[in-house]
Formats: sequence, structure tokens, C-alpha cells
Amino acid sequence: TNTSQPKRADRSKVYMADLESTLHYSLRVEAARAATLSGAQLAAFKCYVATLVKYFPGRPCVQTYLQNLDSWLRNWTEPELPRSALKEAMKNNRDASHPAVLPTNVTWVGCQGSEPHFRGYPCGLWTIFHLLTIQAAQSGPDKELPLEVLSTMRCYVRHFFGCQECAQHFEAMAAESMDRVTGREEAVLWLWSHHNEVNARLAGGDTEDPNFPKLQWPPPDMCPQCHREERGVHAWDQLTVLTFLKAHFSPANIYLDFAE
Ligand code: FAD
Repeated sequence: TNTSQPKRADRSKVYMADLESTLHYSLRVEAARAATLSGAQLAAFKCYVATLVKYFPGRPCVQTYLQNLDSWLRNWTEPELPRSALKEAMKNNRDASHPAVLPTNVTWVGCQGSEPHFRGYPCGLWTIFHLLTIQAAQSGPDKELPLEVLSTMRCYVRHFFGCQECAQHFEAMAAESMDRVTGREEAVLWLWSHHNEVNARLAGGDTEDPNFPKLQWPPPDMCPQCHREERGVHAWDQLTVLTFLKAHFSPANIYLDFAE
């Protein structure tokens, strides 16, 4: 069988294969690069896993995997966490009465690029954090811990994201305005609008996949009502955008096609 067969993705859907591939890569590859985790880096890792347990709408075996990893990390009270111990704790357990499995293959569907160096992991990371900000906004009082997910993302990106230039750009945006976010819905819109800022900056550049041009998202054909014109100038209808994001990044819009 030809495993590199092109996968036909529908850009109006979110794919579990992208989400699980991103989790696998972020936890087992990016976070396991350092020989030991300690200090702020260890805290960032614990925070990332705790946020996933709270808000990632995963399949039962993945939820169990994340819960087990989270409890294991909570029990790790020494200041240094060696990579060998972490790698052991991140192994799958298929034999238990509640299997704890995060697939170890990397399969991109919605995030598949036209060449291997395009899209993939960075696309998955944006997708995961949009999803988490939306799930957090749907699950608790708006004014309670508004920065919970955004600050987790900020710490993850700062300490683990392999693209250092990306991390610096993101940190600069975060330092400028993230702390002014006062509600969970505002956090959703902060990430959406700053992702669009990144899209605008990267449009036409050499990291752009020619088959997936950087757009201001969602484009009019995906959400006509999200767009308005005020005196001939483009404007977003932010309430409609929020409604669109809640539907796009909802568990009901996550498809299992190509998931292991
Ligand atoms: P992505 O921009 O990765 O988007 C993924 C998917 O999210 C899209 O397919 C779409 O479905 C959806 N989406 C798009 N825009 C929005 C939005 N505004 N709101 C909600 N959903 C949206 N690359 C660089 O070259 N330089 C950088 O400085 C840089 N900084 C980055 C910082 C961060 C934090 C991250 C996660 C990535 C960064 N990247 C950077 C990578 C870049 O942003 C893209 O992820 C990469 O080029 C792949 O692009 P893509 O076409 O798959 O779409």
C-alpha cells in the first residue's frame, strides 16, 4: 500500500489525526529533546499536560493517556526530571482495563502540506490551541482564569517550540497585549486575531505552501457573515467570528478519518 497517498481533506473540518499527531510530536519529540527538564521548563510541561487533561476533547484511550501522564507528573516532586524517566512515563499502555494510548504515528490530514517541509506540526499546534481556547470558553465562567490556555500556549511555545524565530515573534505579540485579555471569549478572539496577524506577515513568503496560501481566516467562502465593509474598508463581525470558531473547533466537527 502507498502510505504517501494524498489525503483529501475538507478545510471546513478538524481532523483527530492532526490533533493526535501534534500531541504525540509535542510531548514525545519536542518536550523530550532536553536531557532533563527543570525549573520553568518543567513547569511549562506540567502546565501543558494539565491543560490538555482539562480541555482536550480526545478519544477515551487518549484521555486516559493524558490523565495518567498528568498524575505521574504531579507525583514527580524532584526538581529535575530526566528524559529517560519521562520517556518511560510517556509510553502507551494497551493492556490495562482502561487502555492509555496516544498513537505514535504522525499522520497529517487537514495539516498535510504539498511538500514534507510545509505545514504539519506548526499547523497542528495552532489547531490544538484554538481548540483549547474554545473548549475553555465553553466550559467555565467567562471571567474566571481568562488566560489559562493562552499562558499555557505562551509557556509551551517559549520553552519547547522548535522554531525559535516563531517563538520570538509569538512572545513579542504575547508581551504586547495578552495580559489585557479579561475573559475566556476574549482569549478565543485574541488567538484568532493574532494568528491572522501571523498569516498576514507570512503571506507570500518562502514558508508558505503554494497550495495553501495564507489567508485572513475564515475567508468569505467559509463564513460570509464574518466579513463586513465599513465605508469601503474590510471589517470583521467579531460576534459572528466567535460563533463560527465555536462551531469549527467543536468536538462535533472533529473527524476520525485517517486516525490510527
Ligand atoms: P496555519 O497558519 O498553521 O493554520 C492552521 C490552520 O488553522 C489553517 O489551516 C486553518 O484551518 C486555521 N486557521 C488559519 N488562520 C486561523 C485563525 N486566524 N484563527 C483560527 N484558525 C485559523 N512561521 C514562520 O515562517 N515565521 C513565524 O514567525 C512563525 N510563527 C509562528 C508562531 C506560532 C505560535 C506557530 C504555532 C506557528 C508559527 N509559524 C511561523 C508557522 C506558521 O504560522 C504556519 O503554522 C505554517 O506556515 C503552516 O501554515 P498553514 O498553511 O498550515 O496554516
